[in-house]
Amino acid sequence: MSCRIIAIANQKGGVGKTTTTVNLAASLARMGKDVLVVDLDPQGNATTGSGVDKNQLEFGVYDILFDESSVKKAILHSKEGQFDILGSNRSLVGAEIELVQELAREMKLKLALNTVKDKYDYILIDSPPTLTLLTINGLVAADFILVPMVCEYYALEGISDLIATINKIKKSKINPSLEIIGLVRTMFDSRNNLSKEVSGQLEEYFESDLFKTTIPRNIKLAEAPSHGLPGIAYDKNSKGAQSYLDLAKELNKKIKKLS
Ligand code: ATP
Ligand code: MG
Repeated sequence: MSCRIIAIANQKGGVGKTTTTVNLAASLARMGKDVLVVDLDPQGNATTGSGVDKNQLEFGVYDILFDESSVKKAILHSKEGQFDILGSNRSLVGAEIELVQELAREMKLKLALNTVKDKYDYILIDSPPTLTLLTINGLVAADFILVPMVCEYYALEGISDLIATINKIKKSKINPSLEIIGLVRTMFDSRNNLSKEVSGQLEEYFESDLFKTTIPRNIKLAEAPSHGLPGIAYDKNSKGAQSYLDLAKELNKKIKKLS
């Protein structure tokens, strides 16, 4: 299988982008897939949640944006996650400003990942919650976007912002084939009436673009990052971990069907 690059994105904050990136990566790895996680968020949460100390990074995403030959030396391995990771920390905030002066500034991540993508089945990019040049770099490098969302009142607003961004990128011809691979309902509570109602609307509106697997609100998923572990490694039998294993299977099937 050729490498699929998937950006995990939603311009709304706190919807489970990072939790989804790390746990999906660990789940795909447990299915025997070679996976690279790219932490494109200066908060560095995906880095920490993979068990890598973000303050001790010798090289990271910052470096590869300006020197694509540094990718190989910047790749670290998450032992518990069983995937590779390009980490980040607050220094990435500076990249945002420096990138503005670069030629082909939207293409930097894509060019860097091109040098290693042959080694992987999946590259998952954790995006920041804002629409910055970093986020754009992720969307330009990606084949697909996976959108985590919480079933609450303003959920659809965040999605329409994201769809507008995707359409702009497609129109600009920088990445005309960018598509949403699916939306995933996170922190889902099937007993909550509002959750149920919004979820029903999503099913109607997005149909097959909505993953059937839902991710429940689960304390183990929230606890895991403080131990530097993906939920899958922290408590494999928890409902949260099991749901990400299901999501990985559903994603893999969907991708296979497309190729
Ligand atoms: P940001 O926009 O700041 O990058 P995010 O979209 O990456 O946020 P996360 O950091 O993954 O979101 O999740 C936000 C918070 O919710 C975190 O504290 C996380 O541990 C918790 N969380 C995420 N998913 C779940 C879940 N299924 N059950 C319980 N807690 C969760
Ligand atoms: Mg995040």
